[in-house]
Amino acid sequence: MLNRREILKTALVNPWWAGEPYAQSTRGLPPLKIREVKVIATSPRPHYSWVFVKVITSEPGLYGLGSANNAYLSWAVKAAIEKHLGPFWVGKDPERIEDLWQWTHVRSYWRNGSITNVAQAALDMALWDIKGKRANMPLYQLLGGKVREAVPLYAHAGGETPAACVENVQAYMEQGFRHIRVQMGGGYGGGGFVPPGEGSRPESGFRGPAFDEERYLETVPRMFEQVREKLGWQVKLLHDVHEHLTPTLALEFARRMQPIRMFFVEDILPPEQIDYFRQIRALTSTPMAMGELFTHPHEWRPLIAERLIDYIRCRVCAIGGITQARKIAALCEQFGVRTAWQEGGENDPVNQLAAYHVDLTIPSFGIQEDNVFPEEVHELMPGTARIRGGYLYGSDGPGLGIDIDEAMAGRYPLVDDHRNADWTTVRGMDGSLVKP
Ligand code: MG
Repeated sequence: MLNRREILKTALVNPWWAGEPYAQSTRGLPPLKIREVKVIATSPRPHYSWVFVKVITSEPGLYGLGSANNAYLSWAVKAAIEKHLGPFWVGKDPERIEDLWQWTHVRSYWRNGSITNVAQAALDMALWDIKGKRANMPLYQLLGGKVREAVPLYAHAGGETPAACVENVQAYMEQGFRHIRVQMGGGYGGGGFVPPGEGSRPESGFRGPAFDEERYLETVPRMFEQVREKLGWQVKLLHDVHEHLTPTLALEFARRMQPIRMFFVEDILPPEQIDYFRQIRALTSTPMAMGELFTHPHEWRPLIAERLIDYIRCRVCAIGGITQARKIAALCEQFGVRTAWQEGGENDPVNQLAAYHVDLTIPSFGIQEDNVFPEEVHELMPGTARIRGGYLYGSDGPGLGIDIDEAMAGRYPLVDDHRNADWTTVRGMDGSLVKP
């Protein structure tokens, strides 16, 4: 029988953590270094202006992928990584995700820009991808494991008339979607446009479709009334105002949408006018979603902490990646706000998977926006998530679970298609700009 001193002596020579199971899990893993940062810029479709980062490590065959998606300034993002940040990352330890995120954050001195955020996000996603591959686990396992089986998505329905909207919503319901966003007419602000050339226009002025918020206020709630009348109360309905309203009419719109019992109304105000959420909150129970254009914690923090919105809708790459998204999700959990990470027609499969892995693991999840990729993208990027019955499913491969065929990407060089940004120009009858 060993006495206490002898037990202690044995423990020091042969501590419990040197036992066989632990030793097996770490043995043979040498320290890592970032050997190379490669930028893969590709446009498999003209409206895809994709910039990916491939962080290659000192361990043969071990690399991670990240998305630096900003279709509006893709060449600037590419240069920022190739000329400034990439060379700084080379030689650093890819295991230290948080430290390298923070270090990069202060490195460009001015912080939270739309270019620096996506560059940080790309690094962040790639490092989480590397960590997952090293552990041979899908990333959601490293983030605490699943709290849901799959990620519910909301679909994008629309139509030129209320009847066409009803039909389109029904088609998505039949596919299994429970959450459906409905927009009238082509583009955002639809239902609020005076047709080209019509109405009282200034001489030699703007002749295109002119946004009129009073018109919008009359047509959109009426369209939703018809959707409810025809399809009942089971479907969860969403709508994106896309900042087209002035604050007082935003209040009025929220009030008129209350009888529809929306899942949420999105971006009813532009980021510059978020203080008006207090008034909206006081006036109606229509749930509010906001944050697609946010890049800075000062934008989302008061809205969450003061419980002025119901859903935070940042794009994962636009705020700095998985690390930042998890922090927002944790803040949301404290205040009863939920997440609805933004996607967009120009977004990419790596960013979608980054959102997916976070979505699977957070109690504050609300909903995830849909993004459908054509088959050639699945070929270009094996592991791209699949949508089935209104849910998103990742590949379950290690890390993010996605790869890119670089030779194929090379056949689609990056283009800056002006149409990517043209939709942001919206004008009123007098020719002045309306917030997109
Ligand atoms: Mg939106």
